[in-house]
Amino acid sequence: MPPERTTEPWSALLQTGRDDGRLVHEEREGPGAARLADAPPELHREVLGALARLGIERLYSHQAQAVRAAWTSATIVTTGTASGKSLCFNLPTLDVLCRDPRARAMYVYPTKALAQDQARALAQFGLAKRVRPAIYDGDTPREARAQIRRTANVVLTNPDMLHLGILPNHAAWSELFANLAVVVLDEAHCYRGVFGSHMANVLRRLRRIAAAYGTTPRFLLTSATIANPLELAERLTGLEHVQLIDDDGSPAPRRRIAVWNPPLTDELQARRRSPLGEAAQLLAQLLRDGARAICFIKSRKAVELLSRLVREDLSATDAELAQRIAPYRAGYTPQQRRELEQRLVRGELRAVITTDALELGIDIGQLDAALVVTFPGTVSSLRQMWGRAGRRGRGLALYLAGEDALDQFFCRHPEDFLSRPVEAAILDHESPLIFRSHLLCAAHEGPLSAADAEYFGPRWEAAAEQLHSAGELRRRPAYSSGGRDGEEAAARAGAGYVPRRPGAYPAAEVSLRSASADTFAIVDVTSGELLGSTEAARAHSTVHEGAVYMHLGSSYEVRELDLRRRRALVAPFSGDTYTQPKRLTDTEITRLLDRRQALGATLSFGEVTVTDTVLGYQRKRFADHEHVELVALDLPPTAFATQALWFEPDADQLDCELPLEALLGALHATEHAQIAVLPLIAMCDRWDIGGLSTNLHAQTGGPSIFIYDAHPGGIGIARCAFARFEELCEDAARLIGECPCADGCPSCVQSPKCGNLNEPLSKSGARLLLERMLRTGAAAL
Ligand SMILES: [Zn+2]
Ligand SMILES: [Zn+2]
Repeated sequence: MPPERTTEPWSALLQTGRDDGRLVHEEREGPGAARLADAPPELHREVLGALARLGIERLYSHQAQAVRAAWTSATIVTTGTASGKSLCFNLPTLDVLCRDPRARAMYVYPTKALAQDQARALAQFGLAKRVRPAIYDGDTPREARAQIRRTANVVLTNPDMLHLGILPNHAAWSELFANLAVVVLDEAHCYRGVFGSHMANVLRRLRRIAAAYGTTPRFLLTSATIANPLELAERLTGLEHVQLIDDDGSPAPRRRIAVWNPPLTDELQARRRSPLGEAAQLLAQLLRDGARAICFIKSRKAVELLSRLVREDLSATDAELAQRIAPYRAGYTPQQRRELEQRLVRGELRAVITTDALELGIDIGQLDAALVVTFPGTVSSLRQMWGRAGRRGRGLALYLAGEDALDQFFCRHPEDFLSRPVEAAILDHESPLIFRSHLLCAAHEGPLSAADAEYFGPRWEAAAEQLHSAGELRRRPAYSSGGRDGEEAAARAGAGYVPRRPGAYPAAEVSLRSASADTFAIVDVTSGELLGSTEAARAHSTVHEGAVYMHLGSSYEVRELDLRRRRALVAPFSGDTYTQPKRLTDTEITRLLDRRQALGATLSFGEVTVTDTVLGYQRKRFADHEHVELVALDLPPTAFATQALWFEPDADQLDCELPLEALLGALHATEHAQIAVLPLIAMCDRWDIGGLSTNLHAQTGGPSIFIYDAHPGGIGIARCAFARFEELCEDAARLIGECPCADGCPSCVQSPKCGNLNEPLSKSGARLLLERMLRTGAAAL
């Protein structure tokens, strides 16, 4: 045991925060002793030999459990950051490959960087005769591809390549599919929302193709800690009876958890010092006191600003130290990444500053301190970033709050946030547009038939019928060869479906990041590079002319939105402003799916059509959110179908005597508060949710608030909010009731994405409405 140090590199910093009240919460975690277990002796002797060569004498208990679980069924492992999750799927995979020279495995990674790290890790086992890993992604040279298909027995790829390159060309991969023993999905919590809903369908297609070649691969998943790991694994794969391994046997470092709120600069408006300035000061002090640190912050612009501020702060006292921090950017080559990571591990670099989007790509083990600047959206990802703290068994995990509603809510209830179960990862593989688009891809991969209920569920045929009506599929009698018996068999088995245009390539039309195939391309005019795409339904509000558009943490300005050619032309943007669209939204209820009384209000769930007209946009300054200009736009309305909940408060909960402006303000502020806290229940971003409040809705005939999935077809967020509406109202009431501002601020009822530019809002009206609803609920108990 190392001697107990009396001071850590963060002791002085924390003391300052205690003295002036910026440190609003502290917790201690660990240390926890490692629980070890022998590697299962049934493992192939070459795998055991490889472990010995690597110096791994014993496993952590969860690793041994995971290996045994993997031998019997699909398994998901959800232990902490740096707990050795890779061994959990590598050992059973290597075991299979050593036993059966023909067996193949497929590893699916959400990012290329992670696939590269894993290929390296596999090579370290030194089993080159038995294990031949190869990365197969967009960067794989054409001439190497055929060779990989023939000889690699571990193919490391990503969801897009699987969907677009491998499944549609399964015949070229017949060796792989005919011997596919294991499919590994690492970082499975990334597959949620739209991306997850797609991925669930891609994996169903994968199982279906494997079955056509006679294999049923074993699925092995890992995930960060989430509220519903088994549900996620089952929804993603479509399998039942997945085993969960979550009892972490790795040693927990002695970790100090700190929640830090920048000081108030304006009491009345509850304005605080900018988290950037605050973070720079904290980081500089930690570095001076000898810590090695990683700092996570939302955008690339913020990464650059923060790096500059820390350097300036340090260069006054220690010019040499000022040179030992670096931003960690997207777009590094693997070699550049490796070099940076190694300099950090060796201590030549003392700190990296990175966007939270890149957290998944960095391979540095643990450092002394992990700073997370502003709420990363979910407690689950916060914990994952904090997991980077703990080099040599001790560390500081610090969260520094911004002014957003969730940030300040967190600062008021740190115990609550840190003790409540983390968020649930939501996805809906039957989201109609996504489901249909993959069913069409599947039909191109092989005729659809009754047997497909096994993969796509009982609703596959209704969706296939819709594709038939749309002219994409044609019916084919299942057994057309002969007479009455054949017809009866066909009737029993149901009709089969084949593509109407066999030469088409529908997978190319489906982007795994968009809920709808109807998308706009986003093109960087300076480089000609295709940055990505956005759903057509969202294009007007996100990439209108003049919009500042964020992509992987970088800012771009939209030069032109070309409605005819369905693309947005953008250029890198270095200005200090951002934009917020002003729009007119309407909802039409098309189908009621569920209804109940909740907290005295009539609460409904169903399908709606959302019509949006973007009228213009407001430009604001990045640093202080000051209004710069309002620009009018002339864009036609867009509409999309999605899922929504809506509720109609009871007349005596709402002061209907109120002047119209006050009534609207109360409804509008309630809607904003509910949307702000919804990510605490469903693992989503507030940008995945839309809302509408009105004093008179044409169909409900009264005051109503709608909360809808902002993606065409819906991905399960509104459904989750419908089920947990009471919690949603409780959290919203606390968010508003506890904010110290006088009449509404960005930390409670103002929303950065409001289409009405936060007009009108009544904090007091919303507070009253929510409190009355909660009282009704309490009285009913
Ligand atoms: Zn407030
Ligand atoms: Zn609004």
